[in-house]
Amino acid sequence: MTDLLDKRKFYIDGAWADPVRANDLEVIDPSTEEAVAVISLGDQADTDRAVAAAKAAFPGWSRTDPAERLGHVQRILDIYRRRAGDMAWAISHEMGAPQDMSLGDQAEAGSYHIENFITAFKDFRFIRPLGDHAPTSMIAWEPVGVVGLITPWNWPMNQVTLKVIPAILAGDTCVLKPSEIAPLSSMLFAEIVDEAGLPPGVFNLVNGDGPGVGTQLSTHRDVDMISFTGSTRAGIAITKAAADTLKKVVLELGGKGANIVFADADDKAVVRGARHCFYNSGQSCNAPTRMLVERSVYDRAVETAARVATETQVASAHQPGRHIGPVVSKQQWEKIQDLIQKGIDEGARLVAGGPGLPEGVNRGYFVRPTVFADVSNDMTIAQQEIFGPVLSIIPFDTEDEAVAIANDTPYGLTNYVQSQDGARRNRVARQLRSGMVEMNGQSRGAGSAFGGVKMSGRAREGGVMGLEEFMDSKAISGWSAD
Ligand code: NAD
Repeated sequence: MTDLLDKRKFYIDGAWADPVRANDLEVIDPSTEEAVAVISLGDQADTDRAVAAAKAAFPGWSRTDPAERLGHVQRILDIYRRRAGDMAWAISHEMGAPQDMSLGDQAEAGSYHIENFITAFKDFRFIRPLGDHAPTSMIAWEPVGVVGLITPWNWPMNQVTLKVIPAILAGDTCVLKPSEIAPLSSMLFAEIVDEAGLPPGVFNLVNGDGPGVGTQLSTHRDVDMISFTGSTRAGIAITKAAADTLKKVVLELGGKGANIVFADADDKAVVRGARHCFYNSGQSCNAPTRMLVERSVYDRAVETAARVATETQVASAHQPGRHIGPVVSKQQWEKIQDLIQKGIDEGARLVAGGPGLPEGVNRGYFVRPTVFADVSNDMTIAQQEIFGPVLSIIPFDTEDEAVAIANDTPYGLTNYVQSQDGARRNRVARQLRSGMVEMNGQSRGAGSAFGGVKMSGRAREGGVMGLEEFMDSKAISGWSAD
């Protein structure tokens, strides 16, 4: 116990506070299966204290000059950048992202989003005319109030910054409940906010699990909005829990992205798609996990994807390099193993990887990068989010068939299209039922919103839409032009 980092306190009302009742949980390093830290799981009384602090801070904070809030966020960004190394360490140890990726991608995602919010906020118009037809009508954007922010473990700072930053820029006050599996990065983020000198109560952090603090926030009378990222299962539970208080609920949930590879795709398309699927050990809601390949190039694509899987190195998060790390927990490891076995049992053709630990590994939650070919879209591995480095390849014959397969999923987060034919790309992009479509390896522009449709939830995070998400609009008539 003496070597464990003691992270039992919560951040409430501008200070670190002991939990009302002790309820310890160890944070496990997935590379070693050893505990690295101990946190507390909060109780109703801790949640109540944090919500009360946020509620008390709201009247003052919501009336601050936007420039003052921007100044606070700029300070947060400066400190965040200075502490990027610590952040990368925390993320590597709590969820297993390899150290180089943790610094360059995981921690970096936080500064990227903060910068983009700063840019969007500088031009943000809190009050706008409705239109020339109604000269005295205005639309005002107002903070929602106290917001509860519930985040997962897979991209911890990506998700925390996509929620905390727009909330405080909007003039909301917040209570963050990070994933109990990966809380260390958020504890460090609280240190950063503390150093930035925000007024007490504007930002609060209480650790806890879903049935505890998660549910307490979702049902709380004084919480006006929940912004959640995580599983569809928890998203549904939160929606139900929030119903009695009719709070605003915004959900960013799972995905089962299709990557449609037409015969005229560029020659890097399959390699890029397979690598993207294995990236972060497959633990991204927007991962392109179903590769739909036009029949004339199918065999070659299967061979290429299998080669990428075999060449993908799997190793400890505490080693430098471009390998992938373990998955986050024993529970996730077991779930992935079950799904790989289901793929075999349901008749998909295993062409790389498979069940069990990678060769030479006897501890850590490592998964073999796995590729299934001849998958049909009704198989479990094509329908369920696996959240591991597992790619399913499905052949198609026509464009209409590819679109139909891509859309035949409960999810609708990101789909991908690979083709040199611009007219076809545009046509297909419009037919895909998802919140995002990325084509030919072009990433979405800075400030474009991240979010989905259907069972992926309908959050719109990042940029201007991500700011508006944390506000309510107000229609005003009789506005004086003087
Ligand atoms: P989860 O949804 O259970 O946990 C995410 C967050 O929600 C955590 O902070 C958790 O404490 C909280 N939570 C859980 N149940 C809750 C409830 N009833 N009320 C309020 N908060 C609740 O995710 P998980 O169990 O860690 O992972 C399971 C699966 O979820 C994964 O296999 C993956 O398919 C999916 N997932 C998706 C994302 C994403 O980015 N969309 C992220 C993580 C996990």
